[in-house]
Amino acid sequence: MIVMKFGGTSVKDATAMRRVLGIVHAQHERTPLVVLSACGGFTDKLLTMARCAGTGDTQKMHEMYQIISTHHITLCNELLANETYRERALHRTNTLLEELRVFCEGIALLGECTPRSLDAIASFGERLSTSIFTIAAQEQGLDALFHDARTTMRTDSVYTNATVQFSQLQTLSRGQILPHMEQGGIVITQGFIGSTEQRITTTLGRGGSDLSAALYGAALLAEEIQIWTDVSGVLSADPRVILNAKSLPEISYAEVRQLSYYGAKVLHPDTIKPAVDKNIPVKVLNTFEPSNSGTTIVYSTKPEEHGLRAVTLMQNCMMIRFDASPDESAAHILADVLEYCHVQKVEILASVGNESSCAIVIRSSDSTIIPNANAVRTAVALLCACGPNLLQHGTELFEFASALQESSPLSVLYGSSDVSIIALLSPDKAQAALQKVHEYIAV
Ligand code: ASP
Ligand code: MG
Repeated sequence: MIVMKFGGTSVKDATAMRRVLGIVHAQHERTPLVVLSACGGFTDKLLTMARCAGTGDTQKMHEMYQIISTHHITLCNELLANETYRERALHRTNTLLEELRVFCEGIALLGECTPRSLDAIASFGERLSTSIFTIAAQEQGLDALFHDARTTMRTDSVYTNATVQFSQLQTLSRGQILPHMEQGGIVITQGFIGSTEQRITTTLGRGGSDLSAALYGAALLAEEIQIWTDVSGVLSADPRVILNAKSLPEISYAEVRQLSYYGAKVLHPDTIKPAVDKNIPVKVLNTFEPSNSGTTIVYSTKPEEHGLRAVTLMQNCMMIRFDASPDESAAHILADVLEYCHVQKVEILASVGNESSCAIVIRSSDSTIIPNANAVRTAVALLCACGPNLLQHGTELFEFASALQESSPLSVLYGSSDVSIIALLSPDKAQAALQKVHEYIAV
């Protein structure tokens, strides 16, 4: 079996859902577990509605309800051609909408919207999208089973940010999801939502559908997890800045982590960790260009592979250098600074030191809270290039250095990671440096 996850943009309306149906249909023989988000933007609308109910703004609450209700009823009418299926979808949708209305009235009466209520309300987005989608898949002749994720995605009771109990998920999902697949059917379920032991609805945190997909994939030992989104996988650079950025056929989890840490808008690597740990390949694919083979994220890269393949740029950073006096060691200063940053929750982007001086790099916005009158502050941009097995091969360092020849880097950090090289640049030279490094990557 495989897991296919589609985000909010991919299922936002009837046209989008039809596209997704085509993609699922093409792979139905691989018995997918289809994990869907709410229609794009509707989790926000549901949460706004719940908060309005809680603060007594019932007029806005009713307005939001109207928007939510109209959207999903229109979706049924536009998506389903056959009257029997359309009626079934409308009936199901109206039942859910009625339940949603009662919930909201309840919150308004209490005049209080708790995290638990927020989760209950937010869950309707995914429950509506999957209910309608399942009936549309059945209309297409697919043997599609609707699965309520709240019966398998068992969590703790930390509302709005619940943690999944993996062994429970494993047992429950194997019992409830696999039997239908063994008969050759497909299963459709919600991302993002779960429930406690007591069957109270929870959510895994905003954007939690990727995590749901990875967890189901890991629990059911899927042969592959597909994350369908609106870009063609992981790109060699930000396409808004580097126009010829290209999508990478393969990348390792470690590289994705570095890219994401240094500002690339790729999927959040933590969300796919459960699948990567089980060596299940995670493919990032584009719903709007399904023929593009996207990017496969793998646990580790073959040892012989090397070469830089992606680059990110983080502007608005600050390098802070501390010089040690003869009677103190830079190692001690660095230790104190790191401890201080840890307590103050200042994110360290890079740090280096020797016996006489040391430096850290943080976001400029945090720099004012770093004490020490003797520290020298320099505004910098942080450029991070990624590639596999850099330390075994070593040649990338020279490519990197020659790409940066004209940008006179203020510092180059190499060796602390096997998958990245970092350069600190003066902000006005950073864009040109990014272009240059990408030219090396592109050949
Ligand atoms: N619908 C949820 C959200 O918007 C979960 C997701 O889309 O991943 O946060
Ligand atoms: Mg989303």
